[in-house]
Amino acid sequence: MKKYDYIFVGSGLYAGVFAYLACKKGKKCLVVEKRNHLGGNIYCEDMEGIHVHKYGAHIFHTSDRKVWDFVNSLAEFNRYTNSPVANYKGEMYNMPFNMNTFSKMWGISTPEQARAIIEEQRKAVQGEPKNLEEQAISLVGTDIYQKLIKGYTEKQWGRDCKDLPAFIIRRLPVRYIYDNNYFNDLYQGIPIGGYNVIIDRLFEGCEIQLGRDYLEDKEYYDGLGEKVVYTGMIDAYFGHCFGKLEYRSLRFETEVKDTDNYQGVAVVNYTDRETPYTRVIEHKHFEFGTQEKTVITREYPVSWEEGMEPYYPVNDEKNQELYRKYAEKAAQEENVIFGGRLGEYKYYDMDKVIAAALERAEKELQ
Ligand code: FAD
Ligand code: UDP
Repeated sequence: MKKYDYIFVGSGLYAGVFAYLACKKGKKCLVVEKRNHLGGNIYCEDMEGIHVHKYGAHIFHTSDRKVWDFVNSLAEFNRYTNSPVANYKGEMYNMPFNMNTFSKMWGISTPEQARAIIEEQRKAVQGEPKNLEEQAISLVGTDIYQKLIKGYTEKQWGRDCKDLPAFIIRRLPVRYIYDNNYFNDLYQGIPIGGYNVIIDRLFEGCEIQLGRDYLEDKEYYDGLGEKVVYTGMIDAYFGHCFGKLEYRSLRFETEVKDTDNYQGVAVVNYTDRETPYTRVIEHKHFEFGTQEKTVITREYPVSWEEGMEPYYPVNDEKNQELYRKYAEKAAQEENVIFGGRLGEYKYYDMDKVIAAALERAEKELQ
């Protein structure tokens, strides 16, 4: 009999949801986290009485009733609806691509006019879109592609839109109605009190070790637990034996501003190629804050190198091919469950991570 039933490597949502269900079943759980706090990328830091999204803006949205009920059992959600604005060289456009965007871009007023323009412009692409550029043009035409997509995307991913998979841009809605909601999901909001309320509930009852890297002491931790739930980078787990997977990283520059309202909205995207950051977040607007000051964060995309945070998997064909090799090896690893954005090398949103963890944990714990 080992001391713990489960060793959780990482303390993001995947580990948290799994650990929550395991503790409910009376399992003994140890959480090993290399950062100095719990929560992975949803962690918030308090500054000027504002919940600052330390690892980038996080807006909860889902159409999955089970996931929505689950998160609402942990925290109450506010009515925040994400409606970012794009700044292209000082011109302001509503996002996602909808009648407000089309009207501003072309001075038109009806869906019919917008469709006619896009129909004309998308002729630039023949057949099935083969990459992000073709997909974008076929969805919204060349003007919007040039002003609102190309620069932003090439900054974000550090490569040409022709070398990126089409699915990335299909994350964004295209609508012929006047509706600036960034998501199509049924449910959306921000937990009242910030995401840390959820994190604290998820890890109640677990033993926690912060500032500890599981991979540096793997044998020791494996000796402590019957099973491991691993949510770190899958290629690092196997010592990069097939080669390194690619990730994108970010640098966050956070500043307190001596004004109560800096940009009038939580998220402004800078879609030109020259501005080095992709977005500016004004955190108080996620919770309709009335504090005297405000906190903003500029988000700079950077190439990932060893030692940086691997925020985004790069799910192009080359990396997917490599990931498949690691996934095969992972399937043979007895007593280790691989999960989450890094463990499954998948561009997962929060709700999808929760759904995956609920499903896996329920199967495991039945
Ligand atoms: P993570 O949160 O990455 O947690 C993994 C944890 O494991 C980390 O804390 C890490 O330090 C730890 N770890 C890794 N290796 C080791 C090791 N060897 N030893 C110990 N600890 C280790 N989703 C949405 O639904 N809406 C949004 O608006 C949204 N915005 C986002 C914005 C940004 C900038 C980013 C990067 C992501 C965004 N997401 C959003 C996605 C969301 O962050 C993820 O779906 C979710 O947080 C993933 O949870 P996870 O448990 O898989 O991983
Ligand atoms: N995107 C864009 N212009 C924008 C916002 C997004 O071209 O103003 C593209 C970009 O390629 C990005 C993708 O749409 O990677 C998905 O955007 P999303 O906001 O979902 O990205 P995330 O929040 O995951 O960074």
